[in-house]
Formats: sequence, C-alpha cells, structure tokens
Amino acid sequence: MGIRQSALQRLRKNSISAKDIASQAWCEKQMELYISTPMPETVAMKKGSAFHETQKSEVFVPLSVPPVTWPDKFYKSAYENYTSLSSLVEKGTCRELKVYGSINGFKISGQVDELRIDAGKVVVVEDKTVGNIANITEARLRPDKIQASLYRKLISDIRKKSYTMANFSSAYSIDNMSLSKEFIQGLESIGIKKELQSPKAIYQKMFEAMLSIPEISENLELRYFNNKTGELLSNIKITYDETMLSAWLQKSMAYWSGEREAEPVQESENWKCRRCRFFGKECTAWSGKIGNVM
Ligand code: SF4
Repeated sequence: MGIRQSALQRLRKNSISAKDIASQAWCEKQMELYISTPMPETVAMKKGSAFHETQKSEVFVPLSVPPVTWPDKFYKSAYENYTSLSSLVEKGTCRELKVYGSINGFKISGQVDELRIDAGKVVVVEDKTVGNIANITEARLRPDKIQASLYRKLISDIRKKSYTMANFSSAYSIDNMSLSKEFIQGLESIGIKKELQSPKAIYQKMFEAMLSIPEISENLELRYFNNKTGELLSNIKITYDETMLSAWLQKSMAYWSGEREAEPVQESENWKCRRCRFFGKECTAWSGKIGNVM
C-alpha cells in the first residue's frame, strides 16, 4: 500500500487558511469540495467581498506601487501589514491584517477583519454578512467563533515568540526572494529606504511591529451585518476558549494530515444539505434520505 497523501497534497495547496479550518466546522466535506471544484463567485460571495472592501477602505492605506511578480505581491502584503499595525498603535484600530503561523507543522495563514484597542488590549473582530438576524444560529456561530479564536491564537503565538521571523522565513523561503526592477524603482519613487527594499527586511519589520502592539484581549467580537444594507444586525462578544480551540484543531489536523477522509455533516445537521450546491451531485452522503434542495 502506498503512503497516504495529506489533504494538502491532494488539494494541491501550499498552506491552510484559517477560513478553511473554520469552514470544516460547518461541513468538512463541503469545505473540501469548494477547494477541489472551484466555481464562479455566487451572489452571496460577491456581496460579502464588496462589504469587506468598503470596510477596508475606511482605515486601510494600500501601497501605491503596483506589484509585477509574486515576491512583489508578498512584499506589498507585508508593507501594508506594517502600516496597519502602526495605525493600530496610533489610531486604535486596523483592518485586514494578514497573519501567519504553524499548527502541527502545517503553514497557516489568514486575514483578520479588524483589530481594535479596547481598555488597553487588542481585540480581534470578525465581520460577517448575513441575510437577516434569524440566520445567526448556533450552527452559524460555531465556525465564526473558531475563525476569530484561531486569529487570536496566531497573533498570540507571534507575540509569545513561539512562531518567529525565523520560522516564517524558512516556511516561505524568503531569503531566496527578490523583487522586480520595476517594483524596486516604484519603492524608490515613494521614498522607501534602500535597507527596506527586500521581502526579508519588510517582513522583519512587520514581525517587530507585531511584537510592539499591546497585549491581546481574551475578548473576541463577531459582528453580523445585513448583506444588502450594511446595517449592523448583531455584535456578539465571546471569550477566547483555548480548550475548545485545541480540541477543534486536533480534529481538523487529523483531516489535513491525511489520517481521515473529509466528513459530511451528521444526521442532526443534514438540514444544511438542502442549501448546499454539491447535494446529490459531488456529495451523495444524504442523497435520497432527505427532501430536495433549494
Ligand atoms: S450535501 Fe451536505 S454533507 Fe454533502 S457537502 Fe453539502 S452540506 Fe456537506
């Protein structure tokens, strides 16, 4: 028998996103199918993206130099993270912060919707769009709680130095990255110092900035907005639960490492299948056992 492939190898992914891990808590099978059978953006996804762009534009200052190559894009991301962290310290808030880390040796990445300083501590805020307040059920809250908790853990791991610039550098082979000539010229034109004109230098700066933000709060916020009007429907405050997150990560990683297959939802939650685009097609777990979908 051959060596079993990890889910990452099978799905041809290089790293796991915090969103993937959270989506496993809705339906792991569905999460896998979304990755393996990409489809055009749905109306709900487009509404969600537009909402996040509007939120982001309120405090986020993008690097004006257009990237040409992938290392340029990687640089841009660190530069914007660095300026976002400065905004957090100066103005008390920042949005769309990229975070990196490692769990069981897997590369993990994600993008935190908002960090806000409250009572001297940094609070992780996760924004979601929903059709109406009735959609904010326990089943819906579970993945969102996991996502916000995971962001808190990733930031906290950097601050505790259990995930360092050296770990990041070797995971992303950053020493071997070089920027395009056009991008370097662009950085020069906006006055970025020579010593900061490499991915390694800017990521080093970003890690240092991460260490200088205030302590991370145990409080997390989940904000739900109406996907048509943008009105805030609910702001749910939860407390970080290390035990819950660790148990979830253990279950999640058993899937990513290839120890087990993706699980469909259990019977008590097979109502989710009625709204699933894969029902009866790519996924037949509950076909013929429940009524038709959509
Ligand atoms: S049909 Fe049901 S079990 Fe299958 S992927 Fe969709 S939600 Fe999951």
